[in-house]
Amino acid sequence: MLKDRFGRNLNYLRLSLTDNCNLRCTYCMPHNPHFLPTDNLMAPEEINRLVLLLARLGVKKVRLTGGEPLIRKDFRRIWDLLSRTNLQLNLTTNGVFLRRYLPILSGRLHYLNVSLDSLNPGRYALISRSTPKTFNEVFGAIEEALSYDFSAVKINVVVIRGFNEDEIPEFVRLTEDWPVAVRFIEFMPFNGNGWSADRVVPVSEMMAMVTREFPLLPVSGLSNVSEDYRVPGFRGVVGFIGSMTRPFCDTCNRLRITADGHLKPCLFSPYEVDLLGPMRRGATDNELTDIIVRTVMEKPKGHPGVAELSRTAHENRRMSAIGG
Ligand code: SAM
Ligand code: SF4
Repeated sequence: MLKDRFGRNLNYLRLSLTDNCNLRCTYCMPHNPHFLPTDNLMAPEEINRLVLLLARLGVKKVRLTGGEPLIRKDFRRIWDLLSRTNLQLNLTTNGVFLRRYLPILSGRLHYLNVSLDSLNPGRYALISRSTPKTFNEVFGAIEEALSYDFSAVKINVVVIRGFNEDEIPEFVRLTEDWPVAVRFIEFMPFNGNGWSADRVVPVSEMMAMVTREFPLLPVSGLSNVSEDYRVPGFRGVVGFIGSMTRPFCDTCNRLRITADGHLKPCLFSPYEVDLLGPMRRGATDNELTDIIVRTVMEKPKGHPGVAELSRTAHENRRMSAIGG
């Protein structure tokens, strides 16, 4: 088992397949970002080797993310390799290319998370720097995904004051007929993402907005980071993720690997250690295991408060370059 200095059992890997994306969400990346050269991205076999090593060390769940994981031309090969493991496989996607992959994900994917920050096509286009047509594609893909056998389909909504907090009730209403988990996420500061404290809508405020219109009953077991509820009689679930105002560092079981093969024990810390370089220079499994175990010991107890985080955000990679 991979345990850190504070006794946390690190059994959940968030694996970035690329830092590139077919959208440019304003809260996530700049208009013209620099991306990693393709040669620096882990190849499918390299990804598989690291995942198998981590599985031997006790990792049980993997989430494929990015950037946008479904823009990898070799996504099928990666999926095929990881599908042969006995790990729980999950995916976070913006949904633009989702429809074409639903059949191959079916039968193996556990949780499917799709990001959708507005139910208004024009607004969606603004925040993602895309078009209303893209909204229709993503919304259609989510609806189609509901007919598949995934353990849950979740919609991730980053709530930004002055942009979309007025849509919270409408998102809740979506759970009346759709068996979907809508999760409202507090806006987090990353390098150059336009974050300011006054644009964060705290979970307490989001919940107050919801309970003015809907009664909420607690639901357990869907996630260890979101506080989940159900409106009586509704088919879906509503969750709140308070990374800023209700941090869950004490129970954090996450490790991250960036698309260029760097192990990051904490989303908010710039600390990371290269695994791909040593792997390409011929490191043995034992040598890589040593690096992993030493890196895990550097996982901080928690992240600093929001003021400090926003001051130091430039030292860390962008969210899309870490693997959100
Ligand atoms: N491209 C995929 C997607 O959008 O779902 C996966 C990568 S994206 C970086 C993963 C998640 O991080 C998305 O749900 C996105 O909304 C969220 N995210 C990105 N920047 C964020 C920020 N500044 N604060 C909170 N969540 C953020
Ligand atoms: Fe791309 Fe996801 Fe970031 Fe949006 S949130 S720019 S879809 S990586």
